[in-house]
Amino acid sequence: MKHDTINIDKIIYPSGKIKTMLIILLALMLPAISYTVYISGGIQYVYSHSMYIPILLAGLCFGIKGGAGVAVIAGLLLGPFIPIDTASGEPQLLANWIFRVCIFLLVGASNGLLFDLLRKKIKSIVDLSTHHRDTGLPNSSSLCENAENSIHMVASIVINNYYNIINSFGKEIFTELIKAFYQSLQESFESATVVQADSCKLWLCFGADTAEELKNATTTYQKEGLSLKGIPMYLDFSLGIAYSSGHDEIKKALQQADIAAFHARQENLPHCFFDEKQLINENNNLKLLSQFSQAMNAGETELHYQPQIDLRTRDIIGVEALMRWKHPKRGFIPPQEFIKAVEETYLINPLTEWVIDKSLRIAEVLKNKGFAASVSINISAKNLQNPGFFDRAMGIIKDHDVAFDQIVFEMTESSLMHDPDANKILLHKFKDYHIKLAIDDFGTGYSSLAYLKRFPIDIIKLDRYFIGQMTNDQSVAYIVQAAIELSHKLHVTVVGEGVENTQTEQMLQNMGCDIVQGYYYTRPLDEAGILAWYQNHIS
Ligand code: C2E
Ligand code: CA
Ligand code: CA
Repeated sequence: MKHDTINIDKIIYPSGKIKTMLIILLALMLPAISYTVYISGGIQYVYSHSMYIPILLAGLCFGIKGGAGVAVIAGLLLGPFIPIDTASGEPQLLANWIFRVCIFLLVGASNGLLFDLLRKKIKSIVDLSTHHRDTGLPNSSSLCENAENSIHMVASIVINNYYNIINSFGKEIFTELIKAFYQSLQESFESATVVQADSCKLWLCFGADTAEELKNATTTYQKEGLSLKGIPMYLDFSLGIAYSSGHDEIKKALQQADIAAFHARQENLPHCFFDEKQLINENNNLKLLSQFSQAMNAGETELHYQPQIDLRTRDIIGVEALMRWKHPKRGFIPPQEFIKAVEETYLINPLTEWVIDKSLRIAEVLKNKGFAASVSINISAKNLQNPGFFDRAMGIIKDHDVAFDQIVFEMTESSLMHDPDANKILLHKFKDYHIKLAIDDFGTGYSSLAYLKRFPIDIIKLDRYFIGQMTNDQSVAYIVQAAIELSHKLHVTVVGEGVENTQTEQMLQNMGCDIVQGYYYTRPLDEAGILAWYQNHIS
């Protein structure tokens, strides 16, 4: 069965049954009033004014046509057949009853017109509140209240490459695309209600468990995209599914489907079913986030530093700055537990700016002690998307006495691919200042060496899981070897991350890897620790 969205016409116009009853009522009222006027002594008495009742009623219910029509009939019924005085039989003057018809017509038509305009206005207000303003598709408020009982399964589809599409093709194309997607989903699932919950999110409500069919259909869209005016468009979206357990549960189920879609996106899965653990995670994330905004000011965050070593010369070339949060109650919280959540908020900007400032301060300390002090800083995708990031970052950098070419910004491949064209321009702006740029976690994303040509990259950092597998898996070793050779041909430096033993170090050295970093040398250390470590290794 189809769960209707709100049909405003049903509310503002009388339905079939009421319409018939009104017509019967008017058909009875009109002659009855005419007869009453006749038997009460003729048109000279006041009873003729009761004719305004059916005229106004007709205008109210049937608009201008109804009001005008009934006014003419009413005028005729009180016209030539009704005398001025029934007893004497004296007829009305022609001008008299014609004038009355005109007045009735004026009252009936203007009253009908007023109600027609009112209905139109109500309709446009309801339309606005129940449809998305860009696409005109039904939105979440159009989900009919009384359909809630029959909804069993809901799904949330969140389009992740929303900004990419808008940046590359413009908002109109995105609008067309989401309309085509909506249409296609509605055609595939005729019995479902599909609404646009916000600019890049669709909700689907089903009367039965349709998870398998939905997963299959969405996998096809994810693989093949959607054709718009003959152009195949790539849609990157996450699907979240939840079940509703009856009345009043639909809002909760939709929220759960949203959480599941968010979880799918975070975990890089095509779809995800809601489970309570995600809610606990979400609540924890929210709690953490609300505390994190205070944490930086309260001095609960600090940076640890992991040295990077030149494999040929064995010299220490610098450090990577890694964030730490010492929570007063929960103790040490590792970055993986809060950075992803922080990245979903504006807080990632003050966080990164704090890291730049703090890590450049340690670079100054190291430099003053005569140590090599390049410093690598992790930059998030959201920083790159933030319009003021370049100016703010450069402002902080210029406040420190650190050479620009001693600063490395580390970014993952996926963060660059969020908006490749804009990122290319931004990276070139940093490059103009000779700030070095590194691709972090190389081997976990698309691992396409094409990035090295597309972006002005100086360094790739081979991911630690990749490096870890290398000693056990010959095919991984071949890939690492090929990546190192190709990078060198393109004059790109290679850093091996996560070196934990001498065997790995030896392999990397044989392959010509330039720089290494890992627990084999030391875990990340706090400020005092890294200074002591430098001291030990230099002397
Ligand atoms: P990442 O940028 O890949 O940082 C390297 C991670 O590998 C660090 O984890 C480091 O402690 C760990 N590591 C280093 N050597 C070894 C090794 O030999 N074996 C193993 N198993 N691990 C090793 P950490 O500090 O927990 O940071 C995790 C991730 O959190 C970082 O991965 C980075 O993505 C993110 N992160 C840390 N600090 C920041 C920051 O200031 N800003 C941003 N945006 N992200 C940060
Ligand atoms: Ca890093
Ligand atoms: Ca890394």
